[in-house]
Amino acid sequence: MDKRIGIYIHIPFCVSKCAYCNFYSLAGNDKLMQVYSSAIIKHIEEYSAQLDGFIIDTVYFGGGTPSYFGASRLVSILNALKKHGHVLLDSEVTAEINPGGITKEELTKLKRAGFNRLSIGVQCADDKMLKNLGRTHTIAEAEQTVSFARQAGFDNISVDIIYGLPSQNKEAWSETIAKATALKAEHISCYGLKIEEGTQLYIFKDSPFLPDDDAQADMYLYAVETLARFGYRQYEISNFAKKGYESKHNLKYWLGQEYIGFGPGAHSYVGRCRYSFIEDLEKYIDRVSLGQVVVEYSEEMSDFENAGEYLMLRLRTAHGISEQEYYSIYRLKMDYVLELLKKYETHGWAQYKDGRWRFTPKGFMLSTTLIGELLEAQTRQRTQISKPWQAESAEEESQLTLFNKRPLQSGLFGGRRLVGSQDLV
Ligand code: SF4
Repeated sequence: MDKRIGIYIHIPFCVSKCAYCNFYSLAGNDKLMQVYSSAIIKHIEEYSAQLDGFIIDTVYFGGGTPSYFGASRLVSILNALKKHGHVLLDSEVTAEINPGGITKEELTKLKRAGFNRLSIGVQCADDKMLKNLGRTHTIAEAEQTVSFARQAGFDNISVDIIYGLPSQNKEAWSETIAKATALKAEHISCYGLKIEEGTQLYIFKDSPFLPDDDAQADMYLYAVETLARFGYRQYEISNFAKKGYESKHNLKYWLGQEYIGFGPGAHSYVGRCRYSFIEDLEKYIDRVSLGQVVVEYSEEMSDFENAGEYLMLRLRTAHGISEQEYYSIYRLKMDYVLELLKKYETHGWAQYKDGRWRFTPKGFMLSTTLIGELLEAQTRQRTQISKPWQAESAEEESQLTLFNKRPLQSGLFGGRRLVGSQDLV
């Protein structure tokens, strides 16, 4: 048993809904917290046979707002995981917390139980902007929470900040970056605001108060340059860390490694299978309690889909991709992909160094478009070089189409009957 895996626990409770948020999180459901905690523990217990084959080396409590859920419940869930799975003593154990929403005593409780990393949603350095976003904290509370965390013994702290906010100009963004570095966080995540349908901010999607694409690009490049000067290495499109403080858990997602999620809407990737649970808190609780199916979506990934994910996910990171590595894992050539990467290099969007291709910061900014083109090139090469009548085996032929979906046939779900999402509603 030496296979490593990460565990994600979704905590879908928040004090109130932020104006830009499209995560699965709910306000006003506090009465369900205790029963949800019991449901997660029961679900983990049911999975003990599956967890038995793995060593758990990262655990991540995300949300929602885990700190609002309360330290005692978080500790109970972590203890259940330690009881029913093999959690390494030096695992990275992260909790997302919101400033002002947790006391020094609770942070100490988390630290003593084995939590060793905090991800703090600071978002920006301007109290008025925070209020407009629907955040319930002030920047002074963010400073105090970081101070409490240090006093509780946390030496691995990440802060989240957002650029492209309504009325945010470059000066306001530089103040946010200055604040994040002054907090001496080991890790900083910089996200560009996306106005998503269904959020409160959506009605302002065409507002002149929102920084345009050029202004957002300036802010992003300013962050990359400034954070580098402060010793933060960019290791992913939106993530920067002091040496040795990269998020081990999030790297699992980007490097195509395995993880299991618990909670409504949580995703998992195990073996060749991707699956997710029903994104409905009450249904999740009810079904877990009654021993019913909670899987809403599942698919078995083909080799060719995995090869596409290799390109898509690794190019998000400073790790980048390598022709030899790609061939040794997937037995596929990437000539068409390389042609495009060479073209990107002439534009300053990609670079080749030490046998690997990576995007530059300018390439990261365009990554959605560039990765789309690279995936098309990969599909073109596959279909042109390996015509169906030239495929050496039936399995190879079945992999000629990117995103070819096949139903999952596996015993991954703790004896639960596996059905399609149409059977669940
Ligand atoms: S605290 Fe986080 S998860 Fe909750 S509503 Fe705000 S952005 Fe969404």
